[in-house]
Amino acid sequence: MVEQAQQAGKSEIYRTLLESTKAIPWQIDWKSATFSYIGPQIEALLGWSADSWKTAVDWADRIHPDERQHVVEYCMAQSASGIDHEADYRALTADGRHVWIRDVVHVIRDEAGEVNSLVGFMFDISERKVNEDRIDELQKTLMALSYQDGLTGVANRRRFDELLAAEWEKSRATGAPLSLIMGDIDLFKAYNDRHGHLQGDDCLKAVAACLKAAAMRPRDLVARYGGEEFAILLPETTRSEALAVAERCRLAIAEGSIVHSDNRLPSMSFGVGTRCDDDCIDMRDFVEAVDRKLYAAKSGGRDAIVA
Ligand code: GH3
Ligand code: MG
Ligand code: MG
Repeated sequence: MVEQAQQAGKSEIYRTLLESTKAIPWQIDWKSATFSYIGPQIEALLGWSADSWKTAVDWADRIHPDERQHVVEYCMAQSASGIDHEADYRALTADGRHVWIRDVVHVIRDEAGEVNSLVGFMFDISERKVNEDRIDELQKTLMALSYQDGLTGVANRRRFDELLAAEWEKSRATGAPLSLIMGDIDLFKAYNDRHGHLQGDDCLKAVAACLKAAAMRPRDLVARYGGEEFAILLPETTRSEALAVAERCRLAIAEGSIVHSDNRLPSMSFGVGTRCDDDCIDMRDFVEAVDRKLYAAKSGGRDAIVA
């Protein structure tokens, strides 16, 4: 009698403890797939009363349809194999919202080793999920910024170097032409001296915008290569097509001006190269050859394209 009373007292303590935690305890009988227990806290979290959780189907029906099948299949397979597991999913609330839940499941076996029941805790992880989403967003933004030139918004040298290496390999593998334009603003030192460094910066932004408008294919990449030098990578582009892009760049700059003043943009000189069909040079030699063409355009009198 005394023992029974003590036992009952203990169960009461356990129940009080279980029902006062933020995590929601539950138990499912494996064979009948019915809930033998779920903490009453579930109602505060999801709005569904504890009595409304009758079978595993009630649980499955209250999982967001996007992950329902995957979560149910995963939990069933793990449970059938007797493996403890956990699953994150969005649970439907009685008023039609969704709350991120982490369900941590422990499999209980009988003496014969057969799965007897599942016990688990549901944790509300919505706050953590919001933070994880924010961190993901921040990481994406940081990644994008690390590849962007801060002043002009076009790709930076790092992005250019990585993409050039990738496109070079693709071009070698497929035999598709790969073209490169290097452009350098003419007499930019004098422009800065005349208009000031801030207008010089605005000029760089305007030039970058002209180049972006001229290189229109989705895989084209306009990058700030250094100070007032830009590179345009043109995958699957022949020499004559690249020449046409360079001419569009030159004309766009000739017609462009800085929005907040009447200044015309300074002219720009370009070198244009296309990867040799017979792989006669490596990537560095290729860039240097295009750079030499750019300087040939400079020594020829500037505002010119050498291909
Ligand atoms: P060239 O036609 O031979 O290219 O003459 P240049 O005057 O353009 O060439 P130089 O290399 O002598 O001068 C480049 C100038 O570009 C000097 C430098 O102050 C300017 N410059 C480089 N980066 C920036 C920048 O971020 N902002 C501004 N405003 N000027 C820059
Ligand atoms: Mg220059
Ligand atoms: Mg220069």
